[in-house]
Parts: sequence; C-alpha cells; structure tokens
Amino acid sequence: MTTVSASPELAEPALLGWLSTMGLDVDYVRAKGITLYRVDGDGTERAVTDLVGGYGSLILGHNHPELVAEAHRLLDADTPVHAQFSRHPYANAVANRLNAILRRELGTAEAFLAIFANTGAEAIEAGVKHAELDRVLRMRAELEAVDAGIAAARTAIDVGARVNPAVLLRLDIDAAAGPVAGFEAVAERVRAYNSEVVARPPLLFALEGSFHGKLMGSVQLTFNEGYRTPFSALGVQSRFLPLNDREALTAATLDAQVALLDVVVRGGLVELAERAAPVVTAVLVEPVQGEGGIRPVSSGYAAGLREACTTLGAPLIVDEIQSGMGRTGAFLASSLSGLRGDYYTLAKSLGGGLAKTSVLLVRESRYRPDFEFLHSSTFAKDGYSCGIALKVLDLLEADDGRVYRVAAERGRRVKEMLSAVRAEFPDVIEEVRGTGLMLGMQFTAQERSSSAVLRENAPLLGYLLAGYLLREHDLRVFPTASNVTTLRFEPSVQITDAEITRLQAGLRAVCALLRAGDGDRLAQL
Ligand code: PMP
Repeated sequence: MTTVSASPELAEPALLGWLSTMGLDVDYVRAKGITLYRVDGDGTERAVTDLVGGYGSLILGHNHPELVAEAHRLLDADTPVHAQFSRHPYANAVANRLNAILRRELGTAEAFLAIFANTGAEAIEAGVKHAELDRVLRMRAELEAVDAGIAAARTAIDVGARVNPAVLLRLDIDAAAGPVAGFEAVAERVRAYNSEVVARPPLLFALEGSFHGKLMGSVQLTFNEGYRTPFSALGVQSRFLPLNDREALTAATLDAQVALLDVVVRGGLVELAERAAPVVTAVLVEPVQGEGGIRPVSSGYAAGLREACTTLGAPLIVDEIQSGMGRTGAFLASSLSGLRGDYYTLAKSLGGGLAKTSVLLVRESRYRPDFEFLHSSTFAKDGYSCGIALKVLDLLEADDGRVYRVAAERGRRVKEMLSAVRAEFPDVIEEVRGTGLMLGMQFTAQERSSSAVLRENAPLLGYLLAGYLLREHDLRVFPTASNVTTLRFEPSVQITDAEITRLQAGLRAVCALLRAGDGDRLAQL
C-alpha cells in the first residue's frame, strides 16, 4: 500500500521538493520496533532500519506492542479523552510516577509540580512563562520592600533623622531644601531609578548550540541563526554562552547583576542601599545538546550553572526533551552529570510514539500556584496521552529499570562501533560524541573537497550522506538540525548486533567515498 496519489502537493511542498533532491522523499507505510517499511515502485515493501528514532521520540520503538495494546484498551474503554476542568486522576498518576523517578535519580525529597503541555517547544514556553511570572512576582516583592524602607525612613525623618549629605550629593539634591523635602526628593529619585530597572526587558541565558524549540518564544532560545533571526523582533532577549566555558559563564553572571536602590536608616541617617534585582528570567540547558551536534555538558560546567543560577536568583531549566526518558541510560541524562535543575522539561518519548504530550516539572519551593490559572491548552493533560505516558513510564521502570540498562549497553556497543569506524577513517571523521542511545558522528567539513558535488553540498553534508545510506544501505539516519556535519544515532532500544554491523558497513562505505572524494556516487549522479 502506498499513500502517494496524483493530488497536488499542498502539505509543505517546498520541503518535499528539497527532500526529493536528496533522495529522502520516501513513503513509509508501516513501522514496527526499529524498522520502517517503504514501498518501492514495483509495490514491494522494503525494510529500513531507523536510526533517527523519531528525533528522540521512539526510545521504545515504533508501535511498541504494549503501548498499542494500551491505546486500544483506552479507546475501547471509552476513556474520557477531553474532560477539561475536572479531576484528572490520570494526570496526577503521571505526575506522581515522575516524582518517584526524580526522587530516586536526583536524591531529593522535594516534590515537583507538573504542568502538562503538548509539544517540546510548548513545555519550554510554559517553563519560561512560569519563570517570568516568578521573576515579576519577586521583583514586585523587592519593590514592596523598598516602599517599606521609604515609609520607615519617612517616619524616622519625622522624628529627627536626617538624610546623609553624601546621599544628597550623589543624587544631586539641594541640601538647602530642608530635611523633609530633601528626603522626598531622595525617595522620588530612588523610585524613578527602580522604575527604569523594572522596565528593562528580562534576560534569558541559553547556550551556544542550544535547541529549545521553534515557536515564537522558544525559537529565540534556539541558537541556530537561520531559525531564530527572522523572528527576533517577536521574541525574548537571549544571551548565548559558549558551552562548557566556565569563565564566560562567570563573566556573564557578573555582567547580568543589577541592583535596585533601597533606603535604610542607620544611626539617625538615611542612607542608600542596594537590593539584587531579579533581571534574569531563567537559564536553559540541555544536558546533552541534541540538535547542536550531540554535545554533553561537562560536570564542571553543570556545577557552574547551578552556582550562576543561585547568584542570579534565576531558575535553571533543564531541557530533557531529547536526552530524557531513558535514552542515555538513566531516566534523566542530567542525573548522570550531576546537573541539578529547578525545572525539567520532558516530551518526545513521553508519548511513546503514539501520543503528543509534554510536561514541565517545577521544584515545589519555586512553584507559583497562580500559574495554573494563567496557562492552559485545550489538548494538554488529556486522558489518552496521560494513559499512554503512564504505560511508557511503566515500561521504562519495569524489571528494576531494564530499559535504562539496555539503552546504556546498546549505546556502548554502538559507540564502540562508531569509534572503530573513526579509528579507520580519522581523515573524514572528526569526532564521535554522546552517551547511551544519543550519539553523534561529526564528519570533516567538505567545503574544500576535490569533488565539486561535495563542495556544493558541504553545507548540507549530513543530508547527502543520509540520502546515500537510505538508498544504498536501507539505513535511515539524519544529521542534527543545527550541525549538519554531525550524523545523529538515536535508535530505539531494540537495536540488534546485526543492525549495528549493518550500520557499520554503511558508514564505512560513506567514509571510503568521502576519502576518495567520490561525491558523484554519494549523490547518485
Ligand atoms: N528541546 C529539545 C532539547 C529538543 O530536542 C526539541 C526538538 N528537537 C525541542 C525542545 C522542541 O520539541 P518539539 O519539536 O516537540 O517542539
């Protein structure tokens, strides 16, 4: 069966056209485990090994039988799917299950409150919105404290306190105006200064190479300029810091510190003081950058991020949308590097490949209950997605976390193979990176290749290689979205030794052609 028809192409035809130039416009008609089935011109089905794994959404593979059975069960039982503004015990069950896992992996007794959403980008935006609400409320509390300081100082002035002449001098206020007028001028200047601080747009820190989504807000947190800059005028202000560079992080943290002015009375004198202004909404990090080229955060940098967030008073949002759900051998990749966040985002494999669902988890001590009344989506927290997510968590946690162990073991095996290929072709492979089933192989840039085809396709190298591997080896691979010289390997846990060997053969063939500068063969010219 094929779904290609004679109808005009109206669903993103430009993208399809581009895929066809790369030989990637295949029609998949069936999927099971790690295999996708395509239909050839003569109508025969052809199996393709899927190393892309739904861009991270398929840690348990396509159409996992127990998830499919659960989907049937939920639908056959007339489970309420959309019952907004009701009790939602299924969502609570998912939240509790996630909490038990986080408690174990993070070694914390603190609860995490769950806000459900539909996609990865949406969970990120919910996180940023929550952080901004928190920032605004904290700023408000700081201003109230300043007001309380001004009121207390006014009372003190009434009973004989004086403004320190140095303060009048600093604020350019005429000392001859008298104590009351002088004090009121100070209060006015302090308020005006603080208003300017409050009016500044908030700042968000993310890392170079980051990918946090492509919606209006989240795309401004995604480093790739091609995705981000056409929409810059619509979005938040992000500051991108170089990954794993602690010095740059320290410098940026210092640079971002802003003070509000406050008024205190000391020894009968009204003095100026400072209060830290919460100007940074949040700091975002992927424990292993996915679309940036499979780049892990070092343990040292993880500690630095924690420190920076404490200094800035900003929450650390750990984006586990791609790295989480067992992919790296633990439920949270961040639990392995010691990275500790205030918020966590999960999506992709949470829906088991059958549901679209995501969740934002917020540490209880930083949680703002008001957020629940401000943020919602028609589709979030629905009965079907929660039922599937619960089953996904059951499967991950079964047999004392067997899936995590398998992901770690299979990942080691794939990485050994990738490293062996690199050892054989160090001239065309720059690096092999990642852990568990989140691996990347970076090829050398081909901008100066002797082959005109390779030179022309150099900016899209990974897609050229993907087309070749699909056509000649029945292997589905793709580059990471923002680093197209890096091929990603994010297969499901079902990957067998035989499939790893086939992948090895495909990659060796690619490397031999790159070494020979045979772009024509890679591009099938
Ligand atoms: N964060 C990360 C780390 C991701 O990898 C992605 C998707 N590649 C997203 C956010 C966005 O997820 P979605 O495509 O579901 O919006």
